[in-house]
Amino acid sequence: MRLNARFFEGALPACRIEWSRRLSRSAGNIDVGKRLVKLSAPLLLDAFADGREHIAVGVRCRSSGEAVEEILKHEMIHLWLFERGLPCGHTPDFRRKAREIGQLKTRHDIARPLPKSGWIYTCARCQAQVVRRKKFGRARACARCCKQFSRGQFDACFTLRGRKI
Ligand SMILES: [Zn+2]
Ligand SMILES: [Zn+2]
Repeated sequence: MRLNARFFEGALPACRIEWSRRLSRSAGNIDVGKRLVKLSAPLLLDAFADGREHIAVGVRCRSSGEAVEEILKHEMIHLWLFERGLPCGHTPDFRRKAREIGQLKTRHDIARPLPKSGWIYTCARCQAQVVRRKKFGRARACARCCKQFSRGQFDACFTLRGRKI
């Protein structure tokens, strides 16, 4: 497939793709043994009926088509690891490959829609995003990075940069 050639050098075997109405906790999953990908109709189709942007695997998606592509890429990484005989969970190898193809996160539910107007804040270090309806009154730092690197203390290195949406 196109994604296989573009991101995995055509190394992946063919997979069946099915839509599921019942799958609603994550936008997709894969059974690497059966080579079967399931896509969640509620999260990938219904959630976009509002015409708004949603975030999937850390990527802003404007339509269900874009979200489906990101989720397929995510599931293909699982298969890519499996085919190479590597553990195929969200391992460091998984994250490296995901970042390489532009995905910042492994969470693959579909987040709440972005508000029509407000502020989107990005951590310069880990790229985590926080969406707010109103602008923060004072400088805020990324909670996750502060927790990980400065014992939970505010550290200006991880200041969130805001942009109006
Ligand atoms: Zn996954
Ligand atoms: Zn951060």
